[in-house]
Amino acid sequence: MFRFLLLAALAVFPALAWNHVGHKAVAGMAYDRLNGKARDKVGALIRSHPDYQSWLANAPADEKGRARHAFIQAAYWPDTIKGDPRFYDDTRAGQRPTSVQPGFPDMKRHTNWHYINIAFSPDGTPFPPPPAVNALTQINTMLGVMSSPVINKDQTYFLPWLLHLVGDVHNPMHCTSRWKRDQVDPKTGKPWSDLGGNAVIVAGAFNLHAYWDDALGSTDTPDFINGLIKFLRGKGKQGEKNLDPQTWVNEGARLAETVAYNFGDDKHKGTKADPIVLSDTYALKAKALARERAALGARRLAAVLNERFK
Ligand SMILES: [Zn+2]
Repeated sequence: MFRFLLLAALAVFPALAWNHVGHKAVAGMAYDRLNGKARDKVGALIRSHPDYQSWLANAPADEKGRARHAFIQAAYWPDTIKGDPRFYDDTRAGQRPTSVQPGFPDMKRHTNWHYINIAFSPDGTPFPPPPAVNALTQINTMLGVMSSPVINKDQTYFLPWLLHLVGDVHNPMHCTSRWKRDQVDPKTGKPWSDLGGNAVIVAGAFNLHAYWDDALGSTDTPDFINGLIKFLRGKGKQGEKNLDPQTWVNEGARLAETVAYNFGDDKHKGTKADPIVLSDTYALKAKALARERAALGARRLAAVLNERFK
């Protein structure tokens, strides 16, 4: 149902994120890799967040387990506010700002922070540069904020965002959008972006973006997520030392173009009437790449936090 509504609202909500499972697995694996000092600092920041209490639902009783649980929930918070009436969508024209609640700098949903969409075109269609505000600009800002040795309000607000966005940019579909001559803006009739794969319809999976969001599984239980984290532990080593977010998004854009959009299916247009049919080979490759990227994202996230909070 949610997905159906989403399709209807495609033009206004162009990109989602790894689903619950993806974000929670990235955050959980990263948390397990934090050193003691970084754990103390993220723990203090998370406890001072105005929505901290909501992250304790179903948390284990022991203190360590609670801290890890809250950290994992915080990483999904930027997606939960998309449906939270205290917040408003600042990227849509005519939205009235909601009143600022204690502890928040603003009540914006910042839906344009979740992706960068470095465009490409297989048929030479001209495309614009990435938007001025995007996941990369925000990650860089947040890493700067985290560099302060003194705990401050900005760090509290940005930490869940940082956990979330490092996950997002390791999903290739958050790094690119494809422009094609025959893919047109319904309003203007001019060539248009596919909105990070949201406008590419694939058989049995809603659309290409959603397919990748769900590539790590969709069973949102602690057992499943902890099992996935165990499985991811040995993965994502190649490139883990590269802590430059610009590289992360460049890698994602290249992988999207060479793997995610490489369907091996030229027969179907990727429209509702003629969806792309993904092969079993594609599915295997996609799953393997999603796992590699999620694990790499977790390693890099832990590394940047360990570096700043030493
Ligand atoms: Zn997201």
